[in-house]
Amino acid sequence: MPSRRGGGGPGSSAAVGPDIDDTRAIDVVGVGKTYSTKKEQLQALIDVSFFARQREFIAIVGPSGCGKTTLLKMAAGLISPTTGTVKINGEEVRGPVSGVGMVFQAPVLLRWRSVIENVLFPIEILRRKKDDYEGPARDILRLVGLDGFEDRHPSELSGGMQQRVAIARALIHDPPLLLMDEPFGALDQLTREQMNLELMRIWTETHKTTLLITHSIEEAVFLADRVVVMSARPGRVIETIDIDLPRPRARSFRRQPRFGELVDRIGALLGLLPADDVELFASTESKDGGA
Ligand code: ADP
Ligand code: MG
Repeated sequence: MPSRRGGGGPGSSAAVGPDIDDTRAIDVVGVGKTYSTKKEQLQALIDVSFFARQREFIAIVGPSGCGKTTLLKMAAGLISPTTGTVKINGEEVRGPVSGVGMVFQAPVLLRWRSVIENVLFPIEILRRKKDDYEGPARDILRLVGLDGFEDRHPSELSGGMQQRVAIARALIHDPPLLLMDEPFGALDQLTREQMNLELMRIWTETHKTTLLITHSIEEAVFLADRVVVMSARPGRVIETIDIDLPRPRARSFRRQPRFGELVDRIGALLGLLPADDVELFASTESKDGGA
């Protein structure tokens, strides 16, 4: 895919350098958000700060309604904070950010279009030359494990496969930043774990800076370099936990004692003691799909 061509390709204009550097890819500083509705002033976030270094994988966990989606939309420049600042690559976000790929809980594919035409859709929106992106689109479909499905239609695919198409679509313009909002929340547990492995592999190959919002503590610990743990609304950062474990991580990683310890620790921060309850939370929350 474009990022592996080492720059110069049609999608490489926003690509970051090959090495991890100190310029923060995402820097959220003292962010608060109050929504004004007809009925009330709703404080969604208070004084939230966290960051992602270039090519880091950050997960955010927290209860429904604590402002996770709000944070993600701010990182994409779709809404602005009431207080504080959001910076992408050192620049304050003041409108929609171009070098971003987004994946939502529902894959929202265009059902009358083939898989590859769905993947190429952002290229049309960006008014770039589609011909230039056919090759990259096929590469990315291979990357997400959909080799041979280019000409199928969404209705012919399983939920997990449709979400792979959505991930491929998010990557087609080679954005340096991938924002994912509970992308696997609607999938069954087994498919979800498979998708976690896929995402681990995709991230290992592309090294996109990634911000993943998830209800599943296990998913967060499995995938992330750091996990931002948030309180109930109004959302604050309770703590940011380093996941000090080597990569890439295989399925067996989930059976390591350290994995369990980290899951328990985050569960405890979310007020879910004892450990048995943490497990219950991880398995039930992953099914409900969240707000
Ligand atoms: P999460 O993704 O963590 O579930 P959200 O960011 O979606 O939380 O929402 C945080 C809070 O802000 C919720 O109480 C939600 O109802 C409220 N909220 C979100 N968007 C709006 C909006 N556009 N107008 C008013 N309230 C909103
Ligand atoms: Mg949400």
